[in-house]
Amino acid sequence: MILCLYLTGMRPQEVQGLRSGCCPDPEPTADGAAGRHLIRSRHYKNVTDEDGNHISAGEDRDIPWVAITPVVHAIRVLERMVPDGELLLSAGHHAFASKRGHHGALKGGALNDQIERFVVWVNREATSLGLSHQTIPEDPHGASGMSRFRRTLAWHIARRPAGLIALAIQYGHMRTVLDARTSSGYASRSQRGLHSVLDVETALAAADTAARLSDRMASGERISGPASRRAIAAAATTPRFEGRIVPAKFAGKAARFLARDGVVLYDNPDAFLICAFKHDNALCEPEPGATAPRQYACRPGCGNTVRTDTHARQLRTRADEIDQMAAAAPGPLGNRLRANSERLRATADAHDTTAQPAEALT
Ligand code: SF4
Repeated sequence: MILCLYLTGMRPQEVQGLRSGCCPDPEPTADGAAGRHLIRSRHYKNVTDEDGNHISAGEDRDIPWVAITPVVHAIRVLERMVPDGELLLSAGHHAFASKRGHHGALKGGALNDQIERFVVWVNREATSLGLSHQTIPEDPHGASGMSRFRRTLAWHIARRPAGLIALAIQYGHMRTVLDARTSSGYASRSQRGLHSVLDVETALAAADTAARLSDRMASGERISGPASRRAIAAAATTPRFEGRIVPAKFAGKAARFLARDGVVLYDNPDAFLICAFKHDNALCEPEPGATAPRQYACRPGCGNTVRTDTHARQLRTRADEIDQMAAAAPGPLGNRLRANSERLRATADAHDTTAQPAEALT
């Protein structure tokens, strides 16, 4: 349940409505490549009859959800626990305390309770294995709950392009899948799917990046990279978001903002740069029509790159960390690590040589 919520962007009710057999293994494509796993199920939001009354039973969704590998595995596990065609989260098969009188899927309260129990289990395992840094801390905003996963997925896709989170590649992959919105029809505009949540989160992240760049320039940091001028202009015109109250209409504004090719700034902490994304310059090969870079596939030498003095400092700090690892690594691996740290230092040196104050670039 957590994997399905976390990695598909489905709403809680939609996950509760999944049935065994909803995600068959795909046929290979015409060119022999593996096809994508698709989940076919029901959706409930905004489903109405011809008189405009909400249909609580929902309807089959025209457009399937795309399932990445961990989700397919989760569904396969659940399919071993329930009969063919049964709800994957059937109360009759998962409510162990009493099986009498359970119909339909487990209710939201029971599933929220399971999430809390999962947190307790993770923390107990982490403590017993001496991995206290991997415990899940108490959340000041209250229990996790099913409804928070969708926004969290969008947050990770928008702000953690690679590296620090366990499923970074899958998140990057999700962005690619979602960005192919016109070609794949996945969660199309008419369905409003995850796009609007992702657009809002991406626009907020881009605004934060622009604000940070402005602050750094105001404090005297220099800037380098082929997209410096564009980034400075973008930072000057991107609005700041002091709070996080997002009105309903903001999703449309966010999508229009992100469609302005060349002026949206994407933070890429793993490549130690800001990406002033212009589709035609991008070396990371975004899908045709994509409004965001494939940051996890960032390539050196791209014309969208911008760096500040802070990035150069971070590059050197990272190079020092890699050297420490190299000192403890066997021969060939140590050599590769040292080559990597030298490359990072050379990038920092190139910044120092070419960087200019913002005033000189405007
Ligand atoms: S390759 Fe270019 S467009 Fe792609 S993420 Fe890196 S800087 Fe941005």
